[in-house]
Amino acid sequence: MEFKKPFIQLEQFYFMAKMDEIIQNARAANRKALTEFESKIILSELGLPVTKQFLVKTKEEAIKSANELGFPVVMKLIAEDIVHKSDVGAVKLNLSSNKDVEEVFEHLMKIDAKGEKAVSVQEMAKKPITEIIIGSLQDPQFGPAVMFGIGGVMVEVMKDVSFRITPLTPFDAEEMIKEIKAYKMLDGYRGAPKADIESIKNILLIISQFVDTHLEIAEMDLNPIFVYEKGLKIVDARIILK
Ligand code: ADP
Ligand code: MG
Repeated sequence: MEFKKPFIQLEQFYFMAKMDEIIQNARAANRKALTEFESKIILSELGLPVTKQFLVKTKEEAIKSANELGFPVVMKLIAEDIVHKSDVGAVKLNLSSNKDVEEVFEHLMKIDAKGEKAVSVQEMAKKPITEIIIGSLQDPQFGPAVMFGIGGVMVEVMKDVSFRITPLTPFDAEEMIKEIKAYKMLDGYRGAPKADIESIKNILLIISQFVDTHLEIAEMDLNPIFVYEKGLKIVDARIILK
C-alpha cells in the first residue's frame, strides 16, 4: 500500500532563513510591501513552484542571467513603489536574444520609481490552461482567510471568488475550487485539457498553513498562477506585512 506524503513537511517551517532576513530587511527600511522578487523567495521556501529568477543591477548581469535561464526570458523592473508593474510598462515578456535583454534593461531602468531600482530576469512560464489567483487577508474578527479565483475578468469584473477562514481542510480546499462559477475553465471546458486540481488544492493548503502560523503576514496576492495539466507555476506575487 502506498502512503501519501503529507502536503507539507513541518520541519520546512523551521528552516526559512531567507524569509526571516527578507522580513527583517523590509522592517528596517520601514517597508510593508515585499517586492515580487522577495515574495517569490518566501514562496519557494514553502516548497511552492515560482518562476526561476535573478535580481540584477547591471546589463552584464542581466545577459548572464538570461543565458543561464535560457531564452525566452521575462524582465521586470523591481522598485518599492511600483505595485502594478504592467501599468507603468515595467513587464517585458518573451525576450529572445542578448540584444533584447540589453535594450529592455536600459528601458526598464529609465522608468520613474522611488528608491533603489533593480531588474528581475526570470524564466518565461509556458502558456497555461488557465490563470488562477490565490490570496490571503486577515479578517479583524475571524483572523486569516484564503481567497481563490480564476484570473482575468472573472476576478476583476465578476468578483467570482471563494473565501475560507484558516485553517483549511482538504475538503474546504476542494469546495473553494469547485464553488466558483468559472470552475468549468479548470474542468476541461470545450475540449481543453483538465487543470491539475490536486496541485491547486495543495497550494491552497500550504498558503492556509503558512498564513495561519505567520500572523505577521497581513496579505498575500499570488496573481497570476499559471495552471497546467500537471503542476502550476507562480508568475507574480506580492506579500504585505502587518
Ligand atoms: P503586474 O504587477 O502588472 O501584475 P505581472 O508580473 O503579473 O505584473 O505581469 C503581468 C502579466 O505578464 C502576467 O499577468 C502574466 O500574464 C505575464 N507574465 C508575467 N511574468 C511572466 C513570466 N515569468 N512568464 C510568463 N508570463 C508572465
Ligand atoms: Mg500580477
